[in-house]
Amino acid sequence: MILLRKYISMGLGVLLLAACSAAPTAPAGPTQPSGPAPSMAALSPAANEASPPQPENNPAAPTQLAPTQPPAADSLLPGPDCATSLPPTRPDMEGPYFLAGSPQKASLVEPGMEGRRLTIRGYVLTVDCKWIPGTRLEFWQADANGEYDLQGYRLRGHVFTDENGRYQIETILPARYAGRPTHIHVMVLAPGQPGLTTQLYFPEDAPYPELTVALSDDAQGTTAEFNFVLQLK
Ligand code: FE
Repeated sequence: MILLRKYISMGLGVLLLAACSAAPTAPAGPTQPSGPAPSMAALSPAANEASPPQPENNPAAPTQLAPTQPPAADSLLPGPDCATSLPPTRPDMEGPYFLAGSPQKASLVEPGMEGRRLTIRGYVLTVDCKWIPGTRLEFWQADANGEYDLQGYRLRGHVFTDENGRYQIETILPARYAGRPTHIHVMVLAPGQPGLTTQLYFPEDAPYPELTVALSDDAQGTTAEFNFVLQLK
């Protein structure tokens, strides 16, 4: 009887052990995300490159008149008087201070530069009143103390006429020096033409009426208008 109970007990132990061995176990593996899968567009690097720039990181470019662009509509020049043929602009001496290779720039004014702002503008025309686009105009001048920069290109630069023969450059009013009247040197180089070297003068002490600019003043400074007229060769 005792032996029978022992066999029964051992049988139950084997059955319990077999049952435990046969129980399924969850395989260890990566945890799957519970949210929706990200779209391909969101994962693509190109999507980030194509995102528009933020306005605060893309400040507007400073407004500056490009030398070969026509002036803004509100500053268009009145057309020259073409009722008769125009006299060619009188040449004047080059002087000792010309330097070749000046930079192209719409403004010769530099930060902190002394002197009253001056905008010089006008046309380059033929004697029969046709404008000449693409004409290079070299300007060089003394500063507000009557001194030239002989080491570099301060108050030296050039612009081109636009498709309507107009030019414009910003500078300062120079001072007189060595007994000379107030003046600005200009070299006018039309495409395929010999250059015209001359000077612009100001009404208060102009030696030549035909080289005298027409001045007007406003709150921003002084505007000097002058049309250069070339006899084409
Ligand atoms: Fe001079």
